[in-house]
Amino acid sequence: MTVFDDLVGQDQATAVLSRAAAAAGEVIGGGRGAGMTHAWLFTGPPGSGREEAARAFAAALLCPDAGCGHCDQCHQVLIGSHPDLESVRPEGLSYSVKQTRELILRAAGAPTQGRWRVILFEDADRATESAANALLKAIEEPPPRTVWLLCAPAPDDLMITIRSRCRQVTLTTPATEAVAHVLATRDSVPPDLARFAARAAQGHIGRARALALDEGARTRREAVLGIPRALTGVGECVAAAERLVKTAEEEAAAATAALNDNETSELRRLYGEGSTGKGLNRGLVRGGAGALKELEDRQKSRATRIKRDSLDSALLELVSYYRDVLAMQFGAAVELPNDDLRLDLDQLARSSTPEETLRRIDAIMQCRERLAANVNPQIAVEAMMLALRP
Ligand SMILES: [Zn+2]
Repeated sequence: MTVFDDLVGQDQATAVLSRAAAAAGEVIGGGRGAGMTHAWLFTGPPGSGREEAARAFAAALLCPDAGCGHCDQCHQVLIGSHPDLESVRPEGLSYSVKQTRELILRAAGAPTQGRWRVILFEDADRATESAANALLKAIEEPPPRTVWLLCAPAPDDLMITIRSRCRQVTLTTPATEAVAHVLATRDSVPPDLARFAARAAQGHIGRARALALDEGARTRREAVLGIPRALTGVGECVAAAERLVKTAEEEAAAATAALNDNETSELRRLYGEGSTGKGLNRGLVRGGAGALKELEDRQKSRATRIKRDSLDSALLELVSYYRDVLAMQFGAAVELPNDDLRLDLDQLARSSTPEETLRRIDAIMQCRERLAANVNPQIAVEAMMLALRP
């Protein structure tokens, strides 16, 4: 067993990474820091497991045995508690220059356990321009024992000056059978359900696992894919838009509530609230109020991001629905992600033209662009629903 076992359908990337981790171990063994690539860029479509691959590589770098998967070092990396691995995600919609500079300072420290200091930078494409410039400086002159692992959907998402300094690891969309096999063998999902989830998730392993294990996720998918059928009039379009936006809000609220509570009580504890000393309580009023306000701002911005991501994945689900309709209209012999809704798809395929289907897909893509440009969600989604109406 190795830490790379969990990467589904990524044989090529796995081969590159395990060789590199073994070589990095020799670099350390020889007492040199040179010869190691200090910046890596993991790219691949959503769901291909960029972060998982980067995390496995981090474990392989920190493990004395190049990623055995069962030692203390491997274990700490995989559960996210290794002191030499710093894993960051943008706090709001993007990485601020402040967040990035703080990270670069921490990255410059020596490893505590003697091997590497690894920084896993998720969604590196979400760095603002000034944050990206700060990052560029950091990877241009890396401390000898620091390794940066950047993740982004595609190399083009990063400034050329950054990506030209990175060694690139390309992940691909795993095949449906590979995903179904993993669900069935590792998560003990019944074969039929595993196949359904793998097909519906189109190679997105995290999504497939959610669909297989969480009935709520299956119900939400059904609700989204029931929309095209429900758009019989203007009133229905407005109602469908309202429901879709509200569902995204509820999903985001559930995901953020637990995180927020923990962070807030931790901060209050740090500033001495709840203790009996008067001086400490004054401390909360003076330094703490500002810190609390800053934390609340960050939490708000994170909630906005999660809400937007959740709405966006619902829209992508609708795109897959209309793509299936288009495939049927053209008689293409391909696997349909939404094969379980074949009757619905077939009916729409017969009662409309390919041009209409394309126009609908365009309307959804336009809605995604408008949401990314901060248009009010209700307004953008309503306009889309009206365009989807038969
Ligand atoms: Zn290990």
